[in-house]
Amino acid sequence: MEFKLTENQRMIADMVRDFGAKNIKPKMREWDDTQEFPVEVFKQLGELGLMGVLVPTEYGGSGFGYLEYVTAIAELSKIDGSIGLSMAAHNSLCTGHILQFGNEAQKKKYLPKLATAEWIGAWGLTEPNTGSDAGNMRTVAVQDGDHWVINGAKNFITHGKSGNVAVVIVRTGEVGDSHGMTAFVIEKGTPGFSAGRKEDKLGMRASETTELIFQDCRVHKDQILGEVGEGFIQSMKVLDGGRISIAALSLGIAQGAFEAALAYSQERSQFNKPISSFQGIAFKLADMATEIEAASLLTYQAADMKNRGLNVNKESAMAKLYASEVSVRVANEAVQIFGGYGFTKDYPAEKYYRDAKLCTIGEGTSEIQKLVISRAILK
Ligand SMILES: Cc1cc2nc3c(=O)[nH]c(=O)nc-3n(C[C@H](O)[C@H](O)[C@H](O)COP(=O)(O)OP(=O)(O)OC[C@H]3O[C@@H](n4cnc5c(N)ncnc54)[C@H](O)[C@@H]3O)c2cc1C
Repeated sequence: MEFKLTENQRMIADMVRDFGAKNIKPKMREWDDTQEFPVEVFKQLGELGLMGVLVPTEYGGSGFGYLEYVTAIAELSKIDGSIGLSMAAHNSLCTGHILQFGNEAQKKKYLPKLATAEWIGAWGLTEPNTGSDAGNMRTVAVQDGDHWVINGAKNFITHGKSGNVAVVIVRTGEVGDSHGMTAFVIEKGTPGFSAGRKEDKLGMRASETTELIFQDCRVHKDQILGEVGEGFIQSMKVLDGGRISIAALSLGIAQGAFEAALAYSQERSQFNKPISSFQGIAFKLADMATEIEAASLLTYQAADMKNRGLNVNKESAMAKLYASEVSVRVANEAVQIFGGYGFTKDYPAEKYYRDAKLCTIGEGTSEIQKLVISRAILK
């Protein structure tokens, strides 16, 4: 068992830290305040190869594996979770779906644009009335010759407005039939396809979240990914990989919050001593560090298994569940260590605290991860 970072992981971590210091840190507070989605940052991340981390080089990607992917997301999220979330959604969900289930023509058409961030990708499974129960979705596609006509709405879609292309899973069969849904890849500008309301969020505010609306949207059958009826099954496989990226996102936020709290605890004095010298604070730091280490091991284990082509259904859910809950606990303790200053926007703790909460919700809530894990161990 190898616990050392590889040369590529070290190189990526250094590159992301350097990039973040110059291009993210100076602006992140403003993006957070105004909910601006900084498209130009993602174009730059594309130039660095971070928008197609897992895409083979023949399609214009970096051709790396999951270890490098986890490192990139965690390092980015240490700085700003919302940039990490958008990078993860673009790579794992939209790009990942096309990479896993697209035919050769679809891969050649979309992957080079997505891997370089010439295009930003979105992925739509969730609907206003069906989140955890996604299989019960009501957005419908009806066949009309060589075309399908889509009506309905998706919500909470990352890059729903700024995305140039979206993979969307819609109903093509009976409600309740897991083989009754199909994935389509749909380009921005397709008549009948538009973005709706943008959410005003607690955290992850620089990551755009909007509705997608379909009104008699006609798409050619060539836009189907894989087979008709396989969209839901495909989505569950896409999420198995995606959850590793949310574990990495959680890990990065936890590490960022911990490092900020550790430094502050050594700078801040009360009763003529650094607050880190009080056991009540030192033990918090010990718990935070230990939980981060455990979350990291689960995340890299799932990444390693994914690289080896193993089924990661249970392991990715475990990593996502544990790392996301750790992220929330660590960010909470970080605010506590900063005291009143942790409650202000002059210090980073409150942003980590707000951003961390998304990790226990997006790509399946903690309760749904427990459902996945319990099904795997009880079968
Ligand atoms: C910032 C953000 C970005 C997102 N990006 C995307 C995206 O790009 N694409 C996309 O498709 N979706 C996206 N989502 C949607 C996200 O995946 C859903 O919000 C999530 O799956 C939960 O669904 P819901 O919000 O409808 O909650 P609900 O499913 O209504 O759940 C409400 C509560 O009930 C619990 N619950 C539900 N069912 C069960 C059960 N069987 N057992 C126990 N508890 C249960 C849940 O755990 C939760 O606590 C995003 C969400 C957010 C907030």
